[in-house]
Amino acid sequence: MATAASNIVIVGASAAGLTTAAALRRNGYDRDLTLVNAERHAPYDRPPLSKHLLTGEWGVDRIALKTPTDLDGLAIDIRSGVSAERLNLAQSRLFLTDATELTFDRLVVATGVTPRVLPDSAHLDGVHTLRTVDDALALSGELVAGRHLVVVGGGFLGTEVAAAASGLGLDVTLVNALPTPLERSLGPAIGAQVAALHRLNGVDLRTGPANAVQSLVSANGRVTGVAFADGSTLDADVVFVAIGAVPAVDWLAGSGLPVGDGIECAPDLSASPGIYAAGDVARWENPAFDESMRVEHRTNATEQAMHVAERLVDGAPDAFASVPYFWTDQYDLKLQVHGWIKGYDEVRILEGSLVDRRMIAVFRRGDRLVGALGVGAAKALRSWRQLVVDGTAWADVVSS
Ligand SMILES: Cc1cc2nc3c(=O)[nH]c(=O)nc-3n(C[C@H](O)[C@H](O)[C@H](O)COP(=O)(O)OP(=O)(O)OC[C@H]3O[C@@H](n4cnc5c(N)ncnc54)[C@H](O)[C@@H]3O)c2cc1C
Repeated sequence: MATAASNIVIVGASAAGLTTAAALRRNGYDRDLTLVNAERHAPYDRPPLSKHLLTGEWGVDRIALKTPTDLDGLAIDIRSGVSAERLNLAQSRLFLTDATELTFDRLVVATGVTPRVLPDSAHLDGVHTLRTVDDALALSGELVAGRHLVVVGGGFLGTEVAAAASGLGLDVTLVNALPTPLERSLGPAIGAQVAALHRLNGVDLRTGPANAVQSLVSANGRVTGVAFADGSTLDADVVFVAIGAVPAVDWLAGSGLPVGDGIECAPDLSASPGIYAAGDVARWENPAFDESMRVEHRTNATEQAMHVAERLVDGAPDAFASVPYFWTDQYDLKLQVHGWIKGYDEVRILEGSLVDRRMIAVFRRGDRLVGALGVGAAKALRSWRQLVVDGTAWADVVSS
């Protein structure tokens, strides 16, 4: 039996990191607890960054994950504005960017993901990605009515920012190499409805392979447009790039921790004895689907953090079995999905449509029901979720 933890260090102070810390205290852990926070802000929530914060409906104070008093009550040594830059696993030492180092007997890695960028975009004004509150404030400062915003990428972030910007009176063009927005995650049929919704709200959609952006066009250090493979260009005052994200694991190179597309964890979320990962950065074998997955959604970060906090206290190797959940806001509609729908084989819209403001769709992989999407249909969605949890055969609940 391993000795009880007395010095836990958590790297990453957002949804997963802070929740781990808070759950540890709730579970009775009263020894040393250090949180390494790369950002200079107190821990905050990210989903509003592309929604209420961007539209100006909410101020920064509204997205704090804890009040200053509640944070103080947790008695955590928070190192803000400092990153972990190297891990020595054999010696249980963590080296920080302020030239200090920490030792630990348990470590939690909760460093999330970092946005992908277009080549040669780093020093250009007017080009934005969105992961942090500073990113959101910088982007929001450029969302001035009448300007032309080009959104590169038709995933959740691209579509949410397009919606927010069109509401603010910008002239918005969304370019996407796939035929419809949200197609990779939700399929072409729902994607077509999302496209219609955006067009209805005045967004110009340019989709399909010919609209894959190759590079940016600039003058005097500021972006002036985007360029496509055929040599054509599209002018822009501001460009928002949302082309996915990669796990923030560079600092773990050479550490000996198993790192690939995320930190490769055992089913209990441990990556090595006494070392765990949680949130967007963690890849694990999920027994609920018998699949290796990495989930970039808010609820998963909380659920994994609570699981890790329990394992840190009891040391038991219980697996993290989960049916993931996410939502996305598209204008005033909330699309909610329960399940693991990546790599689905079939999507079936069972009732309604986005225009009706009520929809249920279900997802099949192999012969199993693996997910359900609902809009304005909370009760029905709950029932479908249960069928997903139960591992129900598709043929038993969806007619052919
Ligand atoms: C704009 C936006 C909108 C979103 N909207 C939704 C939504 O509508 N629905 C949904 O389900 N999900 C949404 N998400 C996803 C959700 O926010 C994430 O799943 C969640 O934030 C993951 O939490 P995390 O703690 O794992 O990672 P993160 O929130 O990314 O936090 C990781 C933290 O670790 C820090 N860090 C990285 N490297 C180091 C290092 N070496 N040392 C110290 N610290 C480090 C980072 O700076 C960051 O503060 C959204 C995300 C974004 C960015």
